[in-house]
Amino acid sequence: MIKLSHIEKTYEGPDGPVPALKGIDLTIEKGEIYGIIGLSGAGKSTLIRCINMLERPTSGKVIVDGQDLTEMDAAQLREARKNIGMIFQHFNLLSSATVYDNVAFPLRLAKMPEDKIREKVEPLLALVSLSDKANQYPSQLSGGQKQRVGIARALASEPKVLLSDEATSALDPQTTKAILQLIRDINKKLGLTVVIITHEMQVIKDICDKVAVIENGVIVEQGPVLDVFVTP
Ligand code: ADP
Ligand code: ADP
Repeated sequence: MIKLSHIEKTYEGPDGPVPALKGIDLTIEKGEIYGIIGLSGAGKSTLIRCINMLERPTSGKVIVDGQDLTEMDAAQLREARKNIGMIFQHFNLLSSATVYDNVAFPLRLAKMPEDKIREKVEPLLALVSLSDKANQYPSQLSGGQKQRVGIARALASEPKVLLSDEATSALDPQTTKAILQLIRDINKKLGLTVVIITHEMQVIKDICDKVAVIENGVIVEQGPVLDVFVTP
């Protein structure tokens, strides 16, 4: 479902070039929950942002669902991105919009008619157990509820891939477990491929099928979680 070939990313920093990714090769199969773990500054965020081209790799190829995103123009990329939902550490919700309108937002951008939007948003709110919060604002919600809005919004365009950028890092352990369980349920129910970046080993152990360990822009180990992290 996702194939990264020889991805390099070098930022132009104030003191010269900063190599953030130094030749990443990674294949993620359909339906997998794939974790990418590493310390702060290792390149995790850059890597996940290359998968949906929020960050353009300096070189290398990004293939998602058979399409090479690095070859696309802006319009093609906008279309291809509908296939890739993303959730964030700080949720990135619109604070002046209701739960319903946050989830509807990507569909309104895509100019979907309001009746169609309603047909999509209502089941999504039910999926994340927020039907009774549709008219509330993000400030009225707990962290876990906000992230469930983030998940529903990410699923609105019916993506095949869900990217999670430290989505549970701002949540307490109990809420983290509930969100991870929800992500796993969605993975099973919808057959969605999930990529999770985290600095927390527990997240990988709780939910991921496979893991890659990234250090200084290089993958130093990858494979099934049980092979990479041998628990004594
Ligand atoms: P992580 O997500 O693992 O903390 P990042 O991908 O954010 O790592 O960062 C990898 C490296 O790239 C770090 O050295 C960071 O300082 C650098 N970096 C990230 N974004 C930028 C940027 N926009 N400009 C310059 N350097 C950056
Ligand atoms: P508009 O087209 O002006 O948004 P709607 O009747 O579709 O009018 O929605 C008015 C407001 O009610 C929306 O902004 C949204 O916050 C809320 N809303 C719309 N549909 C639902 C729904 N099915 N469940 C809960 N709230 C809804």
